[in-house]
Amino acid sequence: EQKRIQPGTVGVFNATIYDSLRKEQALRDGLRQAINRREFSVVYQPIVNGLDNGVWAAEALLRWTFHDTPVRPDYFIPIAEKIGLIHEIGDWVLNRACIDATQWSLGHNVAVSVNVSVIQLMDNNFIQSLDRALKSSGLAPERLHLEITESVFADNRERVQRQVNAIKSRAVQISIDDFGTGFSSLSQLQTLNFDHIKIDRAFVQNLEEGSDTIIRATLLIAKEFGYKTVAEGIETRDHAERLTRMGVDFLQGYYYARPLPVRELTNWFEQHQQ
Ligand code: C2E
Ligand code: MG
Ligand code: MG
Ligand code: MG
Repeated sequence: EQKRIQPGTVGVFNATIYDSLRKEQALRDGLRQAINRREFSVVYQPIVNGLDNGVWAAEALLRWTFHDTPVRPDYFIPIAEKIGLIHEIGDWVLNRACIDATQWSLGHNVAVSVNVSVIQLMDNNFIQSLDRALKSSGLAPERLHLEITESVFADNRERVQRQVNAIKSRAVQISIDDFGTGFSSLSQLQTLNFDHIKIDRAFVQNLEEGSDTIIRATLLIAKEFGYKTVAEGIETRDHAERLTRMGVDFLQGYYYARPLPVRELTNWFEQHQQ
């Protein structure tokens, strides 16, 4: 690790706690203004059917440019959750994504898949804001998928059940994101009726080291409970072919496309179909 630190830069070893706290404070202040300042945008990454190569859905991924620098969602989403801004930000993404999907749906019957934070999901107003996003965009609920990270399901079972039922009764579909990286209880997979399992890209990368155990186990579980499967992080043709042969239904990754601005996405749809 030590040799990666360039002379003149602040390395891990001399960055003070004070510096990192100050940086986080600046990001918090920045996040509070980000919607008004129009610093957010949403990019979309296609998800493809491994068997017939048809486009099934596109995942909405939030981007934030702060002082002309992109900040990674892995970094700012947890901060937004901590300071209670995730509801407002999540609502913004949901509305943007539903509107964008109605634009591309003209001619392309492709669903949009939106990441929803646990905190956002559990909020009393979440179902209301879901209804509002569907109504004001006019998007058919069948064309909306919500991606929820597996770790959600650890506690508060009844509440999760209620929210999931409310979502499902609207015909919106639910994907379990990053499957295999958290600690979900298998019994909950049985009780709650989700629609898809997304296999985390870490397990796709493991194929390189000859390890496919987790993927095989996940496929068995998915089959047992009647879930479709999606594999993330497909970077090569070899990944795509092997996973399809193993029985994974849908594929997503740089091999097909990077996350794209909505205009480029519709171009990509057209090129891909030829
Ligand atoms: P995720 O939902 O698991 O999204 C997949 C991530 O993998 C995305 O990173 C995507 O750009 C990246 N990716 C896609 N294909 C490949 C590939 O072939 N190779 C590699 N190495 N990476 C690939 P991104 O956009 O940086 O997002 C990171 C995470 O931030 C997401 O993980 C999701 O958990 C969260 N996130 C993004 N947008 C939102 C949002 O609107 N709301 C919430 N709550 N979370 C979001
Ligand atoms: Mg996701
Ligand atoms: Mg994921
Ligand atoms: Mg992931």
